Amino acid sequence: MALSERSSDPAKAGRKIVVDGVSKAYDSVQALSGVSLSVREGEFCCIVGPSGCGKTTLLRTIAGLEDTDSGSILVDDDRVTEPGLDRGMVFQEYALFPWLTVRGNIRFGLDRPACDCPDCEGRIRELVDLVGLSGFEDAYPKELSGGMKQRVGSARALAVDPEILLLDEPFGSVDARTRDRLHDELLDIWAETRQTVVFVTHDIDEAVKLADRVVVLDDDPGTVQSTVTVDIDRPRERTSHRFVEYVARIRAELGQTPGASQSSR
Ligand code: ADP
Ligand code: MG
Repeated sequence: MALSERSSDPAKAGRKIVVDGVSKAYDSVQALSGVSLSVREGEFCCIVGPSGCGKTTLLRTIAGLEDTDSGSILVDDDRVTEPGLDRGMVFQEYALFPWLTVRGNIRFGLDRPACDCPDCEGRIRELVDLVGLSGFEDAYPKELSGGMKQRVGSARALAVDPEILLLDEPFGSVDARTRDRLHDELLDIWAETRQTVVFVTHDIDEAVKLADRVVVLDDDPGTVQSTVTVDIDRPRERTSHRFVEYVARIRAELGQTPGASQSSR
């Protein structure tokens, strides 16, 4: 990350991530248009919105994997121009290397991916324990379930202990029961590390379960429609009155009618 172009705007002070008027087009498709939002240090922020509204694009620009056409992304007031060790990303489709074992995939997340010194091996063991994969260190991705693959992806993103964790619909391909367990595990890791989390999902229940604050994106092109602070103590019970109220409120923001399936996601 370049250390130039520091923000002088006092309103942005103390914000871990500031997305400031970001627009991004792919050829004729305007993926994001003037998106502005900020995330506080240690905050768990979920971004929800229909399919194609630019959630992945937004996350990739924060990760420094994508340039913006206009506007800027600041992390700790420094402008993001490339990926950095301060940001770990968990991708939607696992993005594991099929020819590497669990240990090899996690090692790849380390700053020195080719190193097998005792420190690096110790760190890999810690990460394997942290995500509950002990005993599977030598397994290959094709031998793992979706939930386990996602744990490997999470461990790889956590390897350098990044200050910011960026997750792109990480639990979209796992069954509901596994997803619940992974939510609890992620919240435990977050409680321990106090990382700043940006979690993209199209699943409103998931956002209300996890987030301190939910940013609702509108599509065509992607803009911020509203933000909702979820003021419910954790652990959160999906069937509680307040939980259901928050889900209904966000659904209404997205123009989804109560009881409708999330096919318009
Ligand atoms: P989401 O993650 O919310 O589904 P995306 O950020 O993936 O949305 O995509 C936003 C829009 O940009 C969509 O219309 C998508 O088709 C388009 N898009 C995304 N990535 C590319 C790309 N690499 N090339 C061309 N169009 C893209
Ligand atoms: Mg996406």
